[in-house]
Amino acid sequence: MSLIDQLLKKDGHDVSELSQLLSVAPGHDTNRILQQGLAVKAESVGRKVYLRGLIELTNRCRKNCYYCGIRAGNQHAERYTLTDDEVLECARFAWEQGFGSLVIQTGELSGEAFARHIEKLLRRIHSETQSELTITLSCGEQPADVYRRWFDAGASRYLLRIETTNRKLFETIHPNDRDHRWDDRIEALQNLRLAGYQVGTGVMIGLPGQTIDDLAGDLMFFKHMDVDMVGMGPYIEHAHTPLYARASELWPPEERFRIALLMIALLRINMPFINIAASTALETLDPLGRQKGLLAGANVVMPNLTPVKNRKKYLLYNNKPNLDKDAALSAQSLSSVISAIGEEICYHQPGNSQHFVRRNTIA
Ligand code: SAH
Ligand code: SF4
Repeated sequence: MSLIDQLLKKDGHDVSELSQLLSVAPGHDTNRILQQGLAVKAESVGRKVYLRGLIELTNRCRKNCYYCGIRAGNQHAERYTLTDDEVLECARFAWEQGFGSLVIQTGELSGEAFARHIEKLLRRIHSETQSELTITLSCGEQPADVYRRWFDAGASRYLLRIETTNRKLFETIHPNDRDHRWDDRIEALQNLRLAGYQVGTGVMIGLPGQTIDDLAGDLMFFKHMDVDMVGMGPYIEHAHTPLYARASELWPPEERFRIALLMIALLRINMPFINIAASTALETLDPLGRQKGLLAGANVVMPNLTPVKNRKKYLLYNNKPNLDKDAALSAQSLSSVISAIGEEICYHQPGNSQHFVRRNTIA
């Protein structure tokens, strides 16, 4: 039996085993790991896919992450905020389509007006969709009491990527100031857990200066933090950002894509019951990216519901896909491609993280 097969027979891996598995060559060994990701998914959470309608509420952001196209310092970004009625229209669409769940994502804003804005939207969405949609927020770092208020107003999941667990690397992709601190991000993740959320985090894959050992460390971090959900995807350069200056150091796109799939498969093998998103960034690097993500072990996709006129302005990175497909079209084409690869879309279901449910049932 090959070394890879021997390692894959184990239930869990330590950091050096994860490094070994992430270092396999393209072709046979890579495919072997991806197949195992799918096999573990089939056994644990089943070949089921949950849809989260993504609403990109605003591209206004007070932060300046070096990699991100909507960072405050990008003068080229044309700023927008959806009206409450536009948000409600997206929510109703998701509800009528039977999506079961929404994600509201924003740049990072702070202060009472923003806290209230989100609170009000959460209550309105619930009241106008008979509380049949579960809502995930992805609105960055906030004080613990704001996280609690949003939870009380009806958000049940929160996504806050750590971006990279290598603190030194984190410091090279963020400004060195009080607004961009790795420790604060960890504290925010802990506060989210305390507030009662299903907690999701994630990383970018293929950042300039990132190593395979860093990525193995990221997978270990997810295990140590016992997270409920992970969304991770390839880093994709954006021309109007400081990190673009290091574009020549990047792994080729197909390599970033392959490693991203390996990360998904190894995460599924190591945390069988969590929710794992097949990120939009995967689709940017490969037109079949989301399907391949699902076949490596992911079980969540996030069709974009943001009105088309605003979607072009929420450009985190270059070549973001589906910029001009309206929500109905995206939903239709998505459901047919998902069925075509043998996965079942679960309509009208919240798709809670089974990892979270099991932890809270046992505790
Ligand atoms: N402001 C919130 C949510 C919006 S950004 C936050 O930062 O948490 C959501 C995610 O987009 C970030 O966590 C980051 O991982 C990802 N992202 C930003 N720029 C990117 C890029 N150039 N390539 C790939 N992912 C990127
Ligand atoms: Fe703002 Fe999030 Fe982009 Fe950072 S990653 S600049 S916090 S939107």
